[in-house]
Amino acid sequence: MSRVIVRNSDFESLRGAIDRIFQDLEVDLKGKSVLIKPNFGAAVGPEKSALTDARVVKAVLDACLEQTGEVIIGDNPGNLDTRAMHTIGMSGILELASDFYCNISQGGQFVDIGSEIIPRVFLSSQVTDVDYVINVPKMKTHVLCGLSCCIKNLYGYVVGAQKARYHLESGSLKRLTQLWLDLYKYRAPNLNIVDAIVAMEGGGPTHGKPRPVGKIVAGTNGFEVDVVLTTMMGWDPRTMKMLEMACEQGLGEIDVERIEVEGDFEILPEFEKPPTFAAIDPKFNPYEEIVRIRPSLDEEKCVLCRLCGDESCPAEAISFEEYPIIDPEKCISCYCCVEFCPEGALFVEYDKEIFEIA
Ligand code: SF4
Ligand code: SF4
Repeated sequence: MSRVIVRNSDFESLRGAIDRIFQDLEVDLKGKSVLIKPNFGAAVGPEKSALTDARVVKAVLDACLEQTGEVIIGDNPGNLDTRAMHTIGMSGILELASDFYCNISQGGQFVDIGSEIIPRVFLSSQVTDVDYVINVPKMKTHVLCGLSCCIKNLYGYVVGAQKARYHLESGSLKRLTQLWLDLYKYRAPNLNIVDAIVAMEGGGPTHGKPRPVGKIVAGTNGFEVDVVLTTMMGWDPRTMKMLEMACEQGLGEIDVERIEVEGDFEILPEFEKPPTFAAIDPKFNPYEEIVRIRPSLDEEKCVLCRLCGDESCPAEAISFEEYPIIDPEKCISCYCCVEFCPEGALFVEYDKEIFEIA
């Protein structure tokens, strides 16, 4: 049985909370090289609460530096490498720790991760080179898989725009989920520290609503940390396909009663689910049906930047007249365009009729 530690924290008490977690989990980094892997995946500012807060990443960095000088921070935004540092810059980390930020979007290599879905995956070299990985995701919802936290954040091991291509090449949402689990199995983080000071509820991963929670959640088993977070969201982890599959594959306990949860655990009242999961009968597993919803466009928010089509859509489903137009026949509902639209102009709307037909 692994331990998951939940600590009340705000930005002022953050460093103390991280130090205590290092002590409680007996983190020993002496002589080790460390990669801190936040979620800096989308080109949006901190006010959206879609990214790991740079102050949390900095506090983790400072705690690491007490033990070792070999520490880098790195993530792979989902866009092309040419724009990676622009996206990273929007997180605010370069103001706090530019000397420690490494553009891991450069220097990738194809690696056999033992997956039947995509056998040779294009990973950042640092993922395999370092001795110790600290996963520092945001607690947030996700329109495709329900929760984006410890397991899903590791999709950022994959270099840049390759992630969008794998949405298409994997062939289905269930197979894509298996790829996420295979990445987790290939290089499970040694430690997971989740930024839940301000989480995201509703239509995550990029354009949901900030939800102040005031906690840091940590553990060595990322799957079990995800189980605890899902329970805090008021959601039965067994109804979330990604977690059910992880449990079936032996990654840990899905029953929160069988996880040693310490500290300030609480169930958050009325935590809003993503629209794709919100109104669904819990007995009906919607997982594959979610992919029948196409994104919608709010023209008032659209600034005609074309980032949704030129860089984001792996299916070449987006063309442009004045505004982007999505071809419903080509669209595979991966929601990459929704994630990477900087204005939140594309969104996913729950369509009752789709689920009634299903
Ligand atoms: S929908 Fe978003 S990404 Fe696409 S053109 Fe409009 S603002 Fe740009
Ligand atoms: S239009 Fe959007 S949701 Fe559809 S395939 Fe392209 S990126 Fe994915």
